[in-house]
Amino acid sequence: MLPQFFDSMLSLVVKTSTDLPPDVRSAMKVAMGQEPASTQSAQALAIIAENIDLASDCEGAICQDTGMPTFEVKTPVGANQIEMRKQIRDAVAEATKRGKLRPNSVDSITGENSGTNLGPGTPIIHFEQWERDEIEVKLILKGGGCENMNAQYSVPVELPNLGRADRNLEGVRKCILHAIWNAQGKGCAPGAIGVCIGGDRTSGYVHAKEQLFRTLDDVNPDPRLAELEASIMGEVNKLGIGTMGFGGRVSLIGCKIGMQNRLPASFFVSVAYDCWAFRRLGVALDAKTGAIAHWLYRDDANPLIAMADQAGFQRSGREVALQAPLTEEQVRSLKVGDVVLVSGRVFTGRDQVHHHLMKHEPPVDMRGSVLYHCGPVVVKEAGGWKVTAAGPTTSIREEPYQADVIKRYGVRAVIGKGGMGAKTLAALKEAGAVYLNGIGGAAQFYARTIKSVDGVSLTEFGTPEAMWHLTVKDFPAIVTMDSHGNSLHKDVEQESAKELAALV
Ligand code: SF4
Repeated sequence: MLPQFFDSMLSLVVKTSTDLPPDVRSAMKVAMGQEPASTQSAQALAIIAENIDLASDCEGAICQDTGMPTFEVKTPVGANQIEMRKQIRDAVAEATKRGKLRPNSVDSITGENSGTNLGPGTPIIHFEQWERDEIEVKLILKGGGCENMNAQYSVPVELPNLGRADRNLEGVRKCILHAIWNAQGKGCAPGAIGVCIGGDRTSGYVHAKEQLFRTLDDVNPDPRLAELEASIMGEVNKLGIGTMGFGGRVSLIGCKIGMQNRLPASFFVSVAYDCWAFRRLGVALDAKTGAIAHWLYRDDANPLIAMADQAGFQRSGREVALQAPLTEEQVRSLKVGDVVLVSGRVFTGRDQVHHHLMKHEPPVDMRGSVLYHCGPVVVKEAGGWKVTAAGPTTSIREEPYQADVIKRYGVRAVIGKGGMGAKTLAALKEAGAVYLNGIGGAAQFYARTIKSVDGVSLTEFGTPEAMWHLTVKDFPAIVTMDSHGNSLHKDVEQESAKELAALV
């Protein structure tokens, strides 16, 4: 049955992971036009644009976090959903084997990675029957950094800087504004949000995520919700969060709001935050063969235009070259706002590595080192390893460990995204270290700065969580937390809180 269904699903997964849809490209183009040249947001957007182009040109993952694959499938009455589920799972495993998806499915207690993106609850596949003859499959790949920025409010609720949110549309508006402000740059802003008013705790989140299947430029058929969407889009960019939370004019590229009936006693507002790497596509299939009849969200008659205006990231000449290993003197000379180009040895380390280092000595000498919060996509090649996608992951998860790791082992620079908290800031000052913010999601761009994979430790944690020993050349990042107690993240959060308060 459906001899071409597997191939169609494989194409859908690969295309979704590697080729951003036209409506998201257009919204990002608009964002690029709004940030003044040479600002940090403009530089970040230039890297993002180059990354989007590189990903589609080489069919590489746009972001190394290829997220939780979530399929929405509509089938004619009588279609064999059991067989379709099996073939979708096979296609996900094959795309993982080919390095188009990162192995992202881990045992919730042990953290053991299945290596295939298959496991209990992974991937997510929802089926629905409809009266039409064709099969429709939509897919969204939403990564952990933005997923962690989802929020659910049970109103009435008292919100910082906004006051009480009541059970009405004004209360919903406050919840949405709070969720966007709270995300800052941690979900790789500028993002897009799906919102559900009502439902229960479970259906609210599901419906909020479903809103992300709408195109960014559509108009809500419910005039009340259309007005609310327009009002959020009209005011949210006044917050000044900007790309990656660097400060800037564009913090959000889309707001899509749906509604579900609720119990009289409950009133939930659920917000699904997606990042700029908003990977969502779909296909309509011939119900007899499973072949792709046409793509959704894209029009093959209109080829996609390149995103990068010039050569992508433009150097200003003011960048600071950093050659690892670093000295305390080098690090103390850096200030918030400096753009650096890192070269030399970099070690990756994220959740499992940090946890491990609390109780064990590091497997390498980390004195003067650059520690990169990154879970790369790595494939075996000619007896060695090749990194095919390697952007920064959300750093705040390492906040409970980072200060100890810096002080105990002599780390001089941490590269990540979204910034870190007060404990890490104090450790940077005490020990003489800096936090460098990379551009979240720019996995193809950063993979090209990696000149060699020189080794790997702690492979028992799985590919993304292992400690990779990389040699990089001219890896650009921005100093957002320095060794003098300054934090751009703290500043932007405080300034945007004032703007938030001014919106009520
Ligand atoms: S762009 Fe950022 S938030 Fe989005 S999946 Fe990649 S790392 Fe996560």
